[in-house]
Amino acid sequence: MRPDGRPSGPRRPEPARVFFALWPDDRVRKALHQAAVDCARRFGGRAMQPETLHLTLAFIGDVPLEDLPRLQEAAAGVDGSAFRLGFDRLGFWGHNHILWAGSRQADPALSAVAHGLAGRLEAAGYPSGIKTGRPFAPHVTLVRNVVNKHPELPELPSVDWACQEFVLVRSRLSGQGAAYETVARWPLRSP
Ligand code: ATP
Ligand code: MG
Repeated sequence: MRPDGRPSGPRRPEPARVFFALWPDDRVRKALHQAAVDCARRFGGRAMQPETLHLTLAFIGDVPLEDLPRLQEAAAGVDGSAFRLGFDRLGFWGHNHILWAGSRQADPALSAVAHGLAGRLEAAGYPSGIKTGRPFAPHVTLVRNVVNKHPELPELPSVDWACQEFVLVRSRLSGQGAAYETVARWPLRSP
C-alpha cells in the first residue's frame, strides 16, 4: 500500500499539460500587460501576469512526460518563416469571459506556422484544435473572468512584434492561474 492508501503497482507515468505558443519579447509584453491592467481595472477580472502572456499555436493537453521527445521531433520539422505581428485590437468573448489582444490583419505566415505545426502534430498522433474542427483564432489573453458582460473596449495602442521563434510550454494549473515553463524552442526562418 502507498501512504495515500492506493494500492501500489506499476507507476502511472506522470502527465504533462503542454502546448505550443509564441512568447512575446519584453517590450511587447510590457505594452500588452499595461493594456491588461487597464482593462481589468475598467471591466473587472484578473489581468494576466506579464510573464504568462502568450499566443497559443496548438494546444495538446495532458500527455505522458515521456511523449515530450516525440512532440519535439514533430515541431522540429515545421518549416515556418519569421514575421511581424502588429497587435492593434482588443476583443472580448462573452462565452468564456476573456478579453484579448489580436491583430486586424495578421501576416499569413502566422497561420502558416500554426497549420504546419498542426499537420506535423497530427501525423505524430496528436491532433490539435485546428485539425479537430476549431478554427485558429490567434489571440493573446489579457484578462480572465471579466465581470462586465458588454465591455466597451478601448483602442489598443498599436504594438509591433517580431516573431522569430515558437516554443513548447508545460502548464501547471493552480488556483492562482497557470504557471508556464518553456520546454524547448525552435527558430522561425528569416523570410
Ligand atoms: P487557466 O486554465 O488556469 O485559466 P490557461 O488557460 O492559461 O490558464 P491552460 O489551460 O494550461 O492555461 O492553457 C494553456 C493555453 O492553451 C492557453 O493559451 C489556453 O487558452 C489554451 N487552451 C487551453 N485549452 C485549450 C483547448 N481545449 N483548445 C485550444 N486552446 C486551449
Ligand atoms: Mg485553461
